[in-house]
Amino acid sequence: MANRQSEIVINVAKSYTKYHVGQIVTNRFTHISFLNALGAFESNEQLSFSTVGFSEEGRAINSITFGAGKTKVLLWSQMHGNESTATRAILDILHFLTADDEFNSLREEIAKNLTLQFVPMLNPDGTERFQRRTATEIDMNRDAVALQSPEGKLLNKIVLDFNPEIAFNLHDQRRFYNVKNTGVPSSMSFLAPAHNQEREVNTVRKKAMQLIAGMNKLLQSYIPKGVGLYDDTYSHRSFGDAIQAQKVSTILVESGRLPNDMEKEGIRKLNFTALLTAFEMIARNSFKDYSVNDYASIPAIDTKLFDVLIKNIKVNGKPNSIVDIGVNRTEYLVEHPGFYAKGVIGDIGDLSTFYGFETVNAKGLTAVAGKSITIDSLEAVSMITVKRLLKQGVLFLITEDLPLENYVPFPINIVHPRKLSLVSPIKFEGKANFLLVDKNKVLKFIVLNGFVVKPGKIDTSINGLVLV
Ligand SMILES: [Zn+2]
Repeated sequence: MANRQSEIVINVAKSYTKYHVGQIVTNRFTHISFLNALGAFESNEQLSFSTVGFSEEGRAINSITFGAGKTKVLLWSQMHGNESTATRAILDILHFLTADDEFNSLREEIAKNLTLQFVPMLNPDGTERFQRRTATEIDMNRDAVALQSPEGKLLNKIVLDFNPEIAFNLHDQRRFYNVKNTGVPSSMSFLAPAHNQEREVNTVRKKAMQLIAGMNKLLQSYIPKGVGLYDDTYSHRSFGDAIQAQKVSTILVESGRLPNDMEKEGIRKLNFTALLTAFEMIARNSFKDYSVNDYASIPAIDTKLFDVLIKNIKVNGKPNSIVDIGVNRTEYLVEHPGFYAKGVIGDIGDLSTFYGFETVNAKGLTAVAGKSITIDSLEAVSMITVKRLLKQGVLFLITEDLPLENYVPFPINIVHPRKLSLVSPIKFEGKANFLLVDKNKVLKFIVLNGFVVKPGKIDTSINGLVLV
């Protein structure tokens, strides 16, 4: 347990706002806006830029190189178009690497010992659509052997040409991952992928494990117990496994979630910090202070996290049943305001082995159906009206005056008179709209489209749905 990481990366992280590239602060951004942000660094002499290839639809894929050291390190991001956190972190890292301040010793150490090649946004067509797959509907991370996507072919070529010693495969994970047997979200998850079916630990894979152990050590001070390990079942079609098998120490990084961090800016900073500490460990060979056991002692991840878990509810009309309800909110892309949410009841019953990103203990409360009122037109409906109606337990406006979209940008649902069957209180895989009242019938919580709020604390960011 010698030296391990120095304090310097911790101090860099304290100055993070200096390096944060503020042009892009949301999960969704276009290829062009990314190129614009990247353009700010193009004239920097310490970086060398090149266009290494093009996507199926002809969008440029760029490579940026820093340093002239012996150890070659390759990093790529966003091979899944809707996984953008690390792309943003790479902008911040480039900003840090090219700055001139009290951290020059770290920069020089990295430049002297490492040659870093960044290939951010490997799937720009998927980015444009904010979808996982490429323009030809291929999941690039299952194309490592077949190489049927131009982007997958390109990555394969980059690995062969650059011949790195270490590679970082940067992704975002889906929202329901927790650290196994805990309610803590796995905010950063890692894997040193297997290089064969037997999952043997050779020297190549061991190095990836040691680096992960070192990153975990640092991350624990920011997200205690919030780091998890992916399952290492060998997947020969996946790039991580395939490249590990090519004797490149490969590290899968999966960006998860933090509370109140919808746009994952907090996770972006964790990426920045974890990658810098990895560079420092590689430059100093200090990853050798960590063992395979340090890696193996990082807990596994699980998929037991709901967006909201409401526990111990008595359901109206079923007096003897006390249940838990797990709610998931799925986001759908729209032009404005970017996305809307649809809240669905994911499970009902004994959910004691599950956790909630947000948990509400509804002990002593009963779930009852939301009220509805009929109106002629939506024209007169304002946020003030909606707030007043919600406090009265009204969750549905019945009208033939339906908006064109599937959602409304305020917290109430719109229902066509012929679709009153959709106003159903609690149904497995049904919409999550109901009220929680106490034994005196006093309204305690409103569950509106999967969002749980107290009657006096209605948030204008909550959207309702148009139920047709
Ligand atoms: Zn991914």
